[in-house]
Amino acid sequence: MATLLDTLGPSRPRHPEKAARADTPALAKPAWLRVRAPGSAGYEETRETVRAHRLHTVCEEAACPNIGDCWQKRHATMMIMGGVCTRACAFCNVATGLPSPLDLDEPRRVADAVAKLALEHIVVTSVDRDDLDDGGARHFAETIRAIRSTSPGTTIEVLTPDFLRKDGALEIVLEARPDVFNHNLETVPGLYLKIRPGARYFHSLRLLQRAKELDGSIFTKSGIMVGLGEERDEVLQVMDDLRSAGVDFLTIGQYLQPTRKHAEIKRYLTPEEFDGLEKAGRAKGFLLIAASPLTRSSFHAGDDFRRLKAAHRDRNSP
Ligand code: SF4
Repeated sequence: MATLLDTLGPSRPRHPEKAARADTPALAKPAWLRVRAPGSAGYEETRETVRAHRLHTVCEEAACPNIGDCWQKRHATMMIMGGVCTRACAFCNVATGLPSPLDLDEPRRVADAVAKLALEHIVVTSVDRDDLDDGGARHFAETIRAIRSTSPGTTIEVLTPDFLRKDGALEIVLEARPDVFNHNLETVPGLYLKIRPGARYFHSLRLLQRAKELDGSIFTKSGIMVGLGEERDEVLQVMDDLRSAGVDFLTIGQYLQPTRKHAEIKRYLTPEEFDGLEKAGRAKGFLLIAASPLTRSSFHAGDDFRRLKAAHRDRNSP
């Protein structure tokens, strides 16, 4: 039985808001979701670098199934602004509670780790910091600038929170000129209250649209999870909404339940169903769409960035 014994300290449960919930029914995992346990030399080297620089990664905090594959290639997704989130989304494994003050040296350490790992492409994400007046936008910008100064050849993707009620935050992030601005819609609008109660679907959509309006040279990207109870037509509608907002790249992956206190997995989509969604997305005009059971926002992000640029070139060449 899954438990929430994972703690941040002796008296601090990881998800206090979920502790009293009943366990949801377990759904047996299909063969296509089984992955090899991590443990390669590359994995150990990545782990060492993350530890030595005192960084958080979403790979570990979200218990991502791809960690063995990604870390073997030294691709870690940095999670800045601490390991405690001010939201309490029903799908997420990141600890919730009151975060610590910002660590002002963190941008430098992220930049040093990126240089040490010799990354061509880095994804930087964060916990939600509703407690900060700018939602953490300046810290994102500082991190982008620190990476640019130590690794000028590295392309930078930011996967940000929604900056709800933080006027001017998006502008601060974009002024630092990331190569990709990513913000995940996570699910279809009809499931927001249940799955992402602290967020608003149209605010997230508008954030992506404004990012494109503010700087059309920055690629925009979003992602959703499926298997939470959404209908296929609702996913197709999300695709249309994202295309209306000018979003270039969409990722779709299977939702996996971190513990049985989290939102229930309603069903596992088959690889063929993911292929069907990918085809539908391509027909709707995304520059790039990645849809598979193990697709995550940052999975193969470097390879995808190259494909994104190539698709952009092809579309705009005479
Ligand atoms: S898919 Fe993303 S979060 Fe998962 S291990 Fe890879 S880089 Fe980390």
